[in-house]
Amino acid sequence: MSASGPHVLVVGAGTGGLCLAQGLRRAGISVSVHERYRTRDEGLLGYRVGIGPTGSRALRECLPPELFRTYLATCARSPRYFTVITQRMRQTASFPLRPDTDPVNTERSVARMTLRQVLLTGLEDVVHFDKTLTRYEQRDDGSVTAYFADGSSADGDLLVAADGTHSAVRRQYLPHAVTRDAGTINIATRIPLTAEVRALLPERIEKGITLIFGTGGMMGVLHVMEFPWDRDGALKPGLDPADAALLERWPGRAHDSTRDNVNLVIWSTARRFPPDVMHRRGEELIGLALELTRNWHPHLRQLLAHADPDSALPIKVATSEPVPPWKSSTVTLLGDAIHTMTPGRGVGANTALRDAALLCRQLRLAAAGEKTLVQAVADYEAVMVPYGFARVADSLNRSGTSGDDRMYKPVVGRLALLGARGYFGVTSRVPRLARRFVDDFYTYRGEED
Ligand SMILES: Cc1cc2nc3c(=O)[nH]c(=O)nc-3n(C[C@H](O)[C@H](O)[C@H](O)COP(=O)(O)OP(=O)(O)OC[C@H]3O[C@@H](n4cnc5c(N)ncnc54)[C@H](O)[C@@H]3O)c2cc1C
Repeated sequence: MSASGPHVLVVGAGTGGLCLAQGLRRAGISVSVHERYRTRDEGLLGYRVGIGPTGSRALRECLPPELFRTYLATCARSPRYFTVITQRMRQTASFPLRPDTDPVNTERSVARMTLRQVLLTGLEDVVHFDKTLTRYEQRDDGSVTAYFADGSSADGDLLVAADGTHSAVRRQYLPHAVTRDAGTINIATRIPLTAEVRALLPERIEKGITLIFGTGGMMGVLHVMEFPWDRDGALKPGLDPADAALLERWPGRAHDSTRDNVNLVIWSTARRFPPDVMHRRGEELIGLALELTRNWHPHLRQLLAHADPDSALPIKVATSEPVPPWKSSTVTLLGDAIHTMTPGRGVGANTALRDAALLCRQLRLAAAGEKTLVQAVADYEAVMVPYGFARVADSLNRSGTSGDDRMYKPVVGRLALLGARGYFGVTSRVPRLARRFVDDFYTYRGEED
């Protein structure tokens, strides 16, 4: 470690890695980020990610204040309802969500590509694209060298694996830390939001998050994403003038092609899908989604039929196995690289952001000479591992994201479906239970250290 403080190598310019880099830069700690994508626009990133209070709090802590305000201005309109419907579009339950007047304590809808462009803002000189990490070397003095597929390398005092579910760093550092197939498959689609598409959606669905509990173990989730810019990328009229000014001068807009759309994801146990599903793309994948939802309401099927073929994506859901404690060193991990979770509770990105803020806080103490670098890593890991793996476990038990869920069993499945619909129905109709449901939703999504 040089007299001017540690140099941190971050592998992976995803949600967690970039948030950490923003925080380190803000704290004056030297950082470089190494990303396998060739450019800042690459990757299938048009999908929604829900950022709750935990994630927004971490972003507020790590981003420069103006960039945090830009993040808020780039979010899609916040959902106003959480609604549960049947495959025939009958409403089982609907809960009003809190208004988005608070910058942090709100459920926000963010497009992955947009969030990435926000997080890259101001880091252009430290993010290196087309750098696929193949291995690293750690010396006795703790210093680390990362090696990349193009033959180049980078030296640092700390290596942070922020390289996602299939982390190459984790494979080398903690070979016993593995992920496993959760047994479910998603088909994600995006439907451009036209007047015709909007006409298919009742108000509570158009303005909210909608969970579809279908018969035969076929599930879905639908989000309508409306951004402050139109299909040409021009700012929509009627925006708050302060937001409009921020967006006008934000350079990330030039790299972001995200437009108003409906995200519709269907999922079920992997047994319901043909063996070649992970190789299907475009019309063929949309055709499969339509086949699997033959008994769904015509409006939901019309949505699928209008999906952008380039957006259709099969996702095999993975989950991390619990890891026994390890001895901390100058290599550490954050986000999916250490605790991949199913989308069951929608907190994977929030947890990656929480890790980034926590690690950043610890590294600031190390840079200030209040503890050693390894102690800072140990203190981070002592907090991150318990909450991270608790969320892995919670996520696996939710919304049928495990292929072993009762929902997918032949006879029991029907009872499980009736039970789930009954639970939501009763909860939404009894005001005390409905209030508690919404409070619990925010409490869970707002957990802090
Ligand atoms: C269908 C679905 C829906 C979801 N919805 C939500 C939600 O609503 N809310 C929520 O909080 N979470 C959600 N998640 C989870 C969330 O997407 C992830 O948990 C989050 O993106 C993890 O962030 P990360 O920074 O750890 O990894 P990532 O964002 O995956 O970033 C990893 C980065 O590392 C790069 N990389 C990989 N290997 C290498 C290498 N060898 N060398 C260099 N770079 C490398 C990748 O290209 C990538 O840019 C969802 C997940 C799925 C599958």
